Amino acid sequence: MKTGQTHLFIPGPTNVPDEVRRAMNVGQEDMRAPDFGDLTLGLFADLKRVFRTETGQVFIFPGSGTGAWEAAITNTLNPGDKVLIARFGQFSTLWAQMAERLGLNVEIIDVAWGAGVPVAEFERRLGADTHDEIKAVFVTHNETATGVTSDIAAVRRALDSCFHDALLFVDGVSSIASIDFRMDEWGVDLAVTGSQKGLMCPAGLGILGVSEKAMEASKSATMRRAYFEFSDMANMNAGGYFPYTPPTPLLRGLRASLDRLFREGLDEVIARHARLAEGIRRGIHAWGLDLVAEHPSLYSDTVSAIRTPEGVDARDVLRIAYEEMNTSFGSGLARLNGRVFRIGHLGDFNEGMALTALSMAEMALWRAGAEVPFGAGVAAAQRFYTGAASANPQLRLAAE
Ligand SMILES: *Cc1c(COP(=O)(O)O)cnc(C)c1O
Repeated sequence: MKTGQTHLFIPGPTNVPDEVRRAMNVGQEDMRAPDFGDLTLGLFADLKRVFRTETGQVFIFPGSGTGAWEAAITNTLNPGDKVLIARFGQFSTLWAQMAERLGLNVEIIDVAWGAGVPVAEFERRLGADTHDEIKAVFVTHNETATGVTSDIAAVRRALDSCFHDALLFVDGVSSIASIDFRMDEWGVDLAVTGSQKGLMCPAGLGILGVSEKAMEASKSATMRRAYFEFSDMANMNAGGYFPYTPPTPLLRGLRASLDRLFREGLDEVIARHARLAEGIRRGIHAWGLDLVAEHPSLYSDTVSAIRTPEGVDARDVLRIAYEEMNTSFGSGLARLNGRVFRIGHLGDFNEGMALTALSMAEMALWRAGAEVPFGAGVAAAQRFYTGAASANPQLRLAAE
């Protein structure tokens, strides 16, 4: 029998704070009540702050991040439109696959899993596209399968330097509300997220930021869509209502999670993710193990994908942690299956959880046959979190 706390260190769904869980424990509400907009209009306004957009519009669709991808595509593009995407992990792969299934002409650039968006290659292809055949550029901001964060501002610069008019789509499902994201500043036209990662809610909401340019494109876009139609949503949202039944308990949860984010401060939330992630990475390096991310400039502050040593099956690490330690880590997805496990460190997360994740991983790794020195990762993270790692030499020696 499993006792005590269950440890959830996966990159989504993330841990839901008690405050958010309690906020969702409500009776069913009248979604056409005259005061329903008191809840929803505030959510739209506050989500705009999270996306850092003043000129864009936010939509909340029942669904998940994948549904929000579909809404973004079908509302703004035409069948057969050419779109440019780089594949460097399972999520960018699935997004390209969806674009193909929906009938787009998908120009794919395959790069190593562990690399980020190939900005120079994007710039070359956009520059060569003198007839503006490329209608959209898709970028996965944080590739959750590999723990790689790409530079969206650089993609915007590449588009601008070619005077290219393509729409910029960004998958921010595992970055928005955890890693710095600036919709207006980076000229993002469609920003996609879900409720169950940085927003600390259960899955169930697909959330979109849509620029004025993308709203304009949606007026003439001819792809088929029905449930995800922007104009139906926009018309009803203007008064705080929805064109169909919204999941009100989830909206109550979202209200509580947004309150929590702003109470801490968005900049502080982002800084906390960076600090906690750095401690985790120091721990991983102290084990002598490698991250999938190829370069420190690509390290994700929400998820770390860790390669197990030669001969150690990552599936054993996951199984032992789950069965014997009441702990879930993220699995290695697709081609990384068996070779990688992931630690999700986003949302409602703190130092104690980071240290627990590292110590559980040390035990599970050892049980799976890896020679990881006990306590090495935990100690490296402790040194970082206390400041001992950067303190004066005397103190540092004492901590070591
Ligand atoms: C989780 C995730 C998705 C998928 O979102 P769902 O909410 O599971 O549909 C897409 N992209 C990225 C980068 C993700 O992390």
